[in-house]
Amino acid sequence: MQLPQPPVVAKPNVGLPLWLLAEVTYRCPLQCPYCSNPLDFAAQGRELTTAQWFKVMAEAREMGAAQIGFSGGEPLVRQDLAELIREARRLGYYTNLITSGIGLTEARIAEFKEAGLDHIQISFQASDEQVNNLLAGSKKAFAQKLAMAKAVKAHGYPMVLNFVTHRHNIDRIDQIIDLCLALEADFVELATCQFYGWAERNRAGLLPTRAQLERAEGITNEYRARLKAENHPCKLIFVTPDYYEERPKACMDGWAKLFLTITPDGTALPCHGARQMPIAFPNVKEQDLRHIWYDSFGFNVYRGYDWMPEPCRSCDEKEKDYGGCRCQAFMLTGDARNADPVCAKSPHHDLILAARQEAETATQRIEDLQFRNERNSRLIAKA
Ligand code: SF4
Ligand code: SF4
Repeated sequence: MQLPQPPVVAKPNVGLPLWLLAEVTYRCPLQCPYCSNPLDFAAQGRELTTAQWFKVMAEAREMGAAQIGFSGGEPLVRQDLAELIREARRLGYYTNLITSGIGLTEARIAEFKEAGLDHIQISFQASDEQVNNLLAGSKKAFAQKLAMAKAVKAHGYPMVLNFVTHRHNIDRIDQIIDLCLALEADFVELATCQFYGWAERNRAGLLPTRAQLERAEGITNEYRARLKAENHPCKLIFVTPDYYEERPKACMDGWAKLFLTITPDGTALPCHGARQMPIAFPNVKEQDLRHIWYDSFGFNVYRGYDWMPEPCRSCDEKEKDYGGCRCQAFMLTGDARNADPVCAKSPHHDLILAARQEAETATQRIEDLQFRNERNSRLIAKA
């Protein structure tokens, strides 16, 4: 199909927002204790309407956005999701649905397919029913996810599964991979928890030990070698948590360089974790996206290198990692301009070393974690 190609109007030295993450709702039937949504999600403003999302998608497309991810919360709770997908496809986006699978049915998959949805990713909490349902906070979650993973494939989509791993499920990495192979998954992301939002709050009860992590990566590599030797189509992607690295990731490929997130109430962010920062980010209900992306304070504040203090300012690696993650620097040091403490050159790297040490002796059970639900969120917002 020939996709419409709107004219792209850019400004020198600023990238295009190629990737639009549409967090269409914070509502979710599950309550994962590692959710990256803001702690006070329950106190956020009203969700954008269908018409407002149409406007956002059109404006972003005109600015060069090529891919859209519908995410949340759980995007399936939006009854207009098929409409949003259809419009995104009409505008020429490559469309992704990022879902827990809860609320998905055969009929809705068919509806999304007919609307032009290109890609679906389903997330799991664990490889066994009891742990999965305990983490998700739902007795039916695991069976529903299995059924929907199969249904997605039956409708001609590649099966893309995401497992968030942490100290309570990472020792079963072999069972997780076996489950994925049994389901005939095409791509599997084994993503160790990254510590933002609820995961940061529960960090002491989620961070695996180095030994757990190394064992899991070793097992994944053995599976990879075996699958390669068998010419098996399944691809395994293993994502290590920042906390066991000595250099930070080039977060979002640079602040406001490529990624644009719109939250359920229309707040525009350079990264989905940035809401917690003490910055008054602009809202699409008040300003058009072009102004937001090119001219707003929130999108310009950490662009380029001039804002950097030492050690990043004079570091010869700054063009590789941009000083790491601003949100992580803010969460851990209270100042987003600091080098990401993951970096061994950061004067705050001791915070990461202390967290690793804490993981060696942590005793929290799953039941001790603080779950992401409306009640807890309202309590946190009030505090
Ligand atoms: S991580 Fe869990 S609680 Fe958060 S939005 Fe996804 S499914 Fe819902
Ligand atoms: S000092 Fe800053 S720029 Fe240099 S490697 Fe560390 S985080 Fe990156």
